[in-house]
Amino acid sequence: MTHPIPQTMGQQFGRRSWAEPWKIKMVEPLRMISRAERDQAIAAAGYNTFLLRSDDVYIDLLTDSGTSAMSDRQWAGMMLGDEAYAGSRNFYHLEEAVREYYGYRYVVPTHQGRGAEHLISKALIKPGDTIPGNMYFTTTRLHQELAGGVFVDVIVDEAHDPANLHPFKGNVDLDKLERVIKRVGPEKIPYVSLAGTVNMAGGQPVSMANVRALRELCDRYGIRLYLDATRMVENAFFIQEREEGYADKSIAAILKEFCSYTDGAWMSAKKDHLVNIGGWLAVNHQDVFETASNLVVVYEGLHTYGGMAGRDMEALAIGITEAVQDDHIRSRIGQVRYLGELLADWDIPIVQPVGGHAIFVNAKRFYPHLPQDQFPAQTLAAELYLDSGIRAMERGIVSAGRDPETGDHRYPALELVRLTIPRRVYTQAHMDVTAEAVKAVYEAREQTRGLRMVYEPKYLRFFQARFEPIE
Ligand SMILES: *Cc1c(COP(=O)(O)O)cnc(C)c1O
Repeated sequence: MTHPIPQTMGQQFGRRSWAEPWKIKMVEPLRMISRAERDQAIAAAGYNTFLLRSDDVYIDLLTDSGTSAMSDRQWAGMMLGDEAYAGSRNFYHLEEAVREYYGYRYVVPTHQGRGAEHLISKALIKPGDTIPGNMYFTTTRLHQELAGGVFVDVIVDEAHDPANLHPFKGNVDLDKLERVIKRVGPEKIPYVSLAGTVNMAGGQPVSMANVRALRELCDRYGIRLYLDATRMVENAFFIQEREEGYADKSIAAILKEFCSYTDGAWMSAKKDHLVNIGGWLAVNHQDVFETASNLVVVYEGLHTYGGMAGRDMEALAIGITEAVQDDHIRSRIGQVRYLGELLADWDIPIVQPVGGHAIFVNAKRFYPHLPQDQFPAQTLAAELYLDSGIRAMERGIVSAGRDPETGDHRYPALELVRLTIPRRVYTQAHMDVTAEAVKAVYEAREQTRGLRMVYEPKYLRFFQARFEPIE
């Protein structure tokens, strides 16, 4: 049994207004360039928002990755960096924080999330293996493929439907998973790859009941379960809000229980952990730790810094403790939800329920006249920038890439634009401005034409592909 999803902030937080649990001590000026300059800038960027200069951006909602504002405590921690090559004291603080809040035994630091994905993929996947998971993530799947594996999506069907109000659209469909296990054999599955929340589905959470059942299924077949913990704190918030029996548990307690059903996790600390760079891999099995902490020396740096400076590890250790504070996560997700409600009130098609880190605009419904191979989401991101200097990100056919077997585009059901909210950076007024900009682009939708791809890199094409408007 789950609680119904609150429809408004009023219901969620009571009748009185709420406010961020911090005040601003240092400011960074923002500036918007003229429409003519924006025209030039987006053309020079090949209509790809990843290729814009940040100086040409007004409100930057490209990503929540590494864009958080650090606290005064974290900045103070930066001054306590122990920049020893080996055995930095900051590493031990980081190790202690991961152990305390995530509960895993062994910790390997990495420069960011994909560094950890590289290590776990290389350590566990053999050519010909299958890795089932709750929807792909770009870098996660690529590292699994580069290690010789094939990713198979076993997320619940509801995740592919932007309008479905299921409270846990990140859940694994256990029947789908069991069919995969029976088809390929458990010995061909090095681990199940579970993400909480699911980025590509719109920041949708996994329930505690689902991870518990998943653990049982994995145990029955002797398969390990690893977690992409990048936004697991946000996932814990949704469990606290929606799942029976968790309303009175702290975010920290929910996080730790969830992790206890898994054998380890990789982390992009640039997200939940409120730092600008960093990551880690943490595991319970000693053999996996030994392999990973040997590989980290090859690819990242010594096993007590993994590509981070000592000061980065200190800020990260402090960020972990700040991330699990209930008032922090409530205001973080509250701000995302505030933007979502403004858009939903104007009938702009967004993924519902609103997830943890971003609003995902449904570009298929926004531009029903554009076929998917004219890149509706890419087009919408470019139009939003042109209108108001706001930078968003495509999460549709460009991000999905090509099928390695056939070489054709993958045509994902979800063709989305992500308005990603950095943590502790923008105010409610910025959310108002953003909502009004999306509305203006929506009102001009019928005159909008699509794009043609004119340059396509081989790997993770969405980062560097270039486009031209179709005349
Ligand atoms: C960002 C992200 C990653 C990769 O982490 P980086 O720090 O960008 O390398 C992995 N998984 C998820 C869900 C992410 O959002």
